[in-house]
Amino acid sequence: MTATPHVLILGAGAAGAAAARSLASRDDVRVTLVAQTGETPYTRMLIKGIAFGPTPPEAITLPLPEVEVVADTVLEVNTSAKQVQLASGTQLAYDALIVATGSKPRLLTTDVIRRETASDLLRISTLHSLEDALHIRELRTGLGRPARVAIYGGGIIAAETATSLHADGDEVILIARSQIPGTGAFGSPVAERIAADHAATVQTRFGRTIQHVDEADSGVAITLDKGNPVVADFLLVALGTIPSGPAPWTTGVDVDGHLRAEPAGVFAAGGVARHYDEALGAWRIDHWEDAAAQGGHAAQVALHHLSIGDDPGAYTPRSPYMAMVHGRMISAVGYIGGADSHREDGHEFVIRHEVGGTVSGVTGIDAVATVYQWGQRLHEVSV
Ligand SMILES: Cc1cc2nc3c(=O)[nH]c(=O)nc-3n(C[C@H](O)[C@H](O)[C@H](O)COP(=O)(O)OP(=O)(O)OC[C@H]3O[C@@H](n4cnc5c(N)ncnc54)[C@H](O)[C@@H]3O)c2cc1C
Repeated sequence: MTATPHVLILGAGAAGAAAARSLASRDDVRVTLVAQTGETPYTRMLIKGIAFGPTPPEAITLPLPEVEVVADTVLEVNTSAKQVQLASGTQLAYDALIVATGSKPRLLTTDVIRRETASDLLRISTLHSLEDALHIRELRTGLGRPARVAIYGGGIIAAETATSLHADGDEVILIARSQIPGTGAFGSPVAERIAADHAATVQTRFGRTIQHVDEADSGVAITLDKGNPVVADFLLVALGTIPSGPAPWTTGVDVDGHLRAEPAGVFAAGGVARHYDEALGAWRIDHWEDAAAQGGHAAQVALHHLSIGDDPGAYTPRSPYMAMVHGRMISAVGYIGGADSHREDGHEFVIRHEVGGTVSGVTGIDAVATVYQWGQRLHEVSV
């Protein structure tokens, strides 16, 4: 190890910036944060304001702490040599490495998409990057009239997008594979309420799968497995995210309860991390606050690995998130997916999610204060 150990953080998003922030004031480590070539790091969750509102891109720039920042996309990591290969040809050595390169959107398979358009204005888009957001804005404003938008998916982004577009006067057709979309994201009792709200507010095609999308200059024609085709100005694909990292972790980084990966000295946080611990089993959370909390925790575990910090213990997800869906405030803390759901007694709509009899997460509708109060009691309360 060099005299002053070098902590290298890959990815300047929620998790990477939080890791850097928690190390920035220390003089016993050197910290380098690596961002993508040509990209000004931004707050990903705020791209909604660019796609559907007047927010300018510079308004969502992510404030970074005072550490060395290198804008040079990471190509691969040689864990034996403890070297990172950057796109420019530069190599960076590390003593501890925090991988925080986030996720990428799940796409339609190429056999589903048939294109006839010569236009650059592709009419099938995800909403994951700043480029996606600017593209969606262009698609909508280019019409000069309310848009007819098909959305494929049932999670938070699909639900929030359906809400925003409907409120803006666009016609929304929400297509989802499940009859009750969003069960993984919200838990089934909340998802059932949201599904009913969607059905009352926008056009829905639930329990349907997209077979083909014919894309032309004037819009998209979507063939479903059942029922009539859907014609729209464009299709927004919101099928969730998958972890994304540099080689050798292109499909994500497996971490233990302390956010440690293999080999020793490598840690991961946020959307790229696939967790496994005894309490929750296999889990993954791709939310801003949780990614930031994981980033801060990974930084402390890295210091412990370098023998200059205490062991912070295992990471447990407690962070909150919120989504406004058709006028209802959906809130959650902790881990929801895969847990058993139970409604709390009382007049509020609050759901406990339990793994092995222990509360791992709580969701609610118009019950933010009650839900957030659960944050510090999670993973300790057996019911
Ligand atoms: C439209 C939208 C709305 C959202 N709304 C919410 C919300 O309301 N609430 C909420 O909690 N969450 C929301 N999220 C999710 C939230 O943005 C993510 O969970 C969060 O950004 C994950 O943090 P991360 O650090 O893992 O990844 P990111 O924040 O995506 O950061 C990863 C960084 O790594 C960089 N990177 C990737 N590969 C490389 C490489 N090879 N070399 C160098 N750099 C690289 C990326 O450019 C990026 O800057 C939303 C997401 C989207 C897309």
